[in-house]
Amino acid sequence: MKIKIFIAFVLTSFICIMLVKYIQTSQESVIQSATDKNLEFIRVANKSILETYMLVAQKSFYDTMRNREAMEILKRFKRVDESQKSLLRGKLFRLLYKEYEFLTKLNVRQIHFHTHDSKSLLRFHIPYQNGDSLKEARSSVRIANSELREVMGFESGKIYPAYRYVFPILYEGEHLGSVEFSISFEGIEKKLRAIFPAYTHKIILDKKTSYDKIFKEYRDFFTPSQLSSNYYLENPTISKLNKKISRDSFVQKLTNLVKSNKYFLEKLNKKESFSLPIINDNKGCVAVFLNLKNIDNESAAYIVSYAPLDEITIIKKRYDFFKMIVVVVSLLLFALVVAIIIQMQKIKDETLKIQRFMNVQSSIVILTDGVRFSFANKKFFDFFNYKDIEAFLEHHECICDLFIRDKNFFSLSDVKKNEKHWVESLLNLPGRARVVLMFDSTMTPHAFSISINQYDANYYIIDFADISDAMSEKLQLQKQVLKDTLTNAYNRAYFDKNIDSILQLNKKHNSFTAIIFFDIDFFKKVNDTYGHVVGDEVLKTLSDIVKADIRKDDKLIRWGGEEFIIVLAAKSIEEATKLAEHLRESIQEYKFDTIGLLTCSFGVSLCEDGDIQKTIKEADERLYKAKETGRNRVVSTSEVESLGALTSRTFHEESHKTGRGF
Ligand code: GH3
Ligand code: MG
Ligand code: MG
Repeated sequence: MKIKIFIAFVLTSFICIMLVKYIQTSQESVIQSATDKNLEFIRVANKSILETYMLVAQKSFYDTMRNREAMEILKRFKRVDESQKSLLRGKLFRLLYKEYEFLTKLNVRQIHFHTHDSKSLLRFHIPYQNGDSLKEARSSVRIANSELREVMGFESGKIYPAYRYVFPILYEGEHLGSVEFSISFEGIEKKLRAIFPAYTHKIILDKKTSYDKIFKEYRDFFTPSQLSSNYYLENPTISKLNKKISRDSFVQKLTNLVKSNKYFLEKLNKKESFSLPIINDNKGCVAVFLNLKNIDNESAAYIVSYAPLDEITIIKKRYDFFKMIVVVVSLLLFALVVAIIIQMQKIKDETLKIQRFMNVQSSIVILTDGVRFSFANKKFFDFFNYKDIEAFLEHHECICDLFIRDKNFFSLSDVKKNEKHWVESLLNLPGRARVVLMFDSTMTPHAFSISINQYDANYYIIDFADISDAMSEKLQLQKQVLKDTLTNAYNRAYFDKNIDSILQLNKKHNSFTAIIFFDIDFFKKVNDTYGHVVGDEVLKTLSDIVKADIRKDDKLIRWGGEEFIIVLAAKSIEEATKLAEHLRESIQEYKFDTIGLLTCSFGVSLCEDGDIQKTIKEADERLYKAKETGRNRVVSTSEVESLGALTSRTFHEESHKTGRGF
């Protein structure tokens, strides 16, 4: 029972775990699509913000192009030697400083002029840092000056990575260089915050593609990100935004939670945009990582946005509820299964107890409703020599089929028309008349006194107490009446008493009843040569040989003198003929004491229409034909046919070659 409970536990746990896992996976994917939706919002918002700044940059560029003085300065700058360049640089700075100041208010962080060969001409944010070549570090400048087209995109720089708009300057058909407007992240962040007030945004720069390109002396302006050592962010001492963020406990908490998320590093290392659902103090939050590619299409930075996301909390609650239901149902299921197992065990124990109790009874005990029969004790199976109820039911429908018809005993012929079944019949009889006669497996008759007890509304417990000793005289008579004393085969009285039930039983099993009729060849000669005593011995031995060869349910009956019949169940005449042929060979090959070899002739017939007397007559006629056509053979048809030459090994055949009735 413990094993059964253990198996039930394992099975219910397994089902429960699988269901919870399934719910968990569905929950994760629903939450993930909710956070991915937020990633899309930020991506679209970022794109439209950059488009807006594009207009600012274009407007400034066209204003600069229309400024003839500025253009003249640049034209001269291209022509003069190094010594005069700083003077021109100063002039340009003073000329456009107001414009630069105005643009910084619109979040333009840098205006940077470049020479036609991509060297720094003037950085408005650091005017004294100039002359350095930008070809290597700044693809946008290189492309604008070499392909003479405007270039825009996120890009690292020598001072600060930013979103850049670079325009080539063509004045009076001459390429003078290029100018660049950079938007600080603060500018983008301000607009993002205006669209998504609940979010906190920051930017982290890829070490390799952004941080490593910065002038060494400016690297102190950056500090490693708490999220990953491969990313840097502007030092909070410089960036107002980062200062604010570094003091924001919500951001700090989320940063730690993001870091401990098992998928975070894997996703970050892929350098693609992603979103993460985060649970902070049982409240749903989202962390969005929008990847920014630089002009060379390398991953250069992430815009990181954090926000509470109630949708996650709602989804989580809903799915957690489902999980709880699954666990509760599994527990209930387990409890139910355990209860059933315990109950079944109880019933089994109880049944076993009853069975044991019944088995020690000296009488046969059965449980029946008069038609079906559901229980029998050991004594029953011992008596009839059956393994179990199923084996018994294969041969008999009811124990009542085995009641022998006899005037001194109750049998099925005593059941009256108005009585439902034999049990009711017995109940209607006085106690002392409830006596039946049955054969045991060795065909010994036993008398039983029956007592009936109601078990429940339909079933009766019926007790068969063996009273054979008390009725020994009557039974002895019975035995004699039914068995032949010389050969111990059944006699004709047995046949008469039982043939009806045999026919019925075979019909029930969709078989026919077959008759094998056989007679010893030249038996008179045995008597004449060796005397009657030897003849009797031969009859006994022959009966033993035949009994050893037939099946349990085949009945050998001494029909008279040295004539026997076998009553058997057969599906066809061929089946019965095969048995007869087999018997013929067994007898032919047997070496009898004193007389040596002996043969028999056989007639076989199948009872197809229920008329057994006709069948016996037919078998007898065929036996006669077997005698007529040479003996030691089997005839199973009414036409005389040659059944194949048979060896004439019997001593009788040597001297008697004439017909029957020697
Ligand atoms: P067939 O081959 O034609 O059968 O020849 P058969 O000699 O066997 O002839 P039949 O069947 O007519 O003879 C039967 C003989 O069997 C007659 C009788 O002497 C003998 N017999 C019958 N009953 C007994 C018996 O109980 N004991 C002995 N010893 N002989 C018996
Ligand atoms: Mg004979
Ligand atoms: Mg005979």
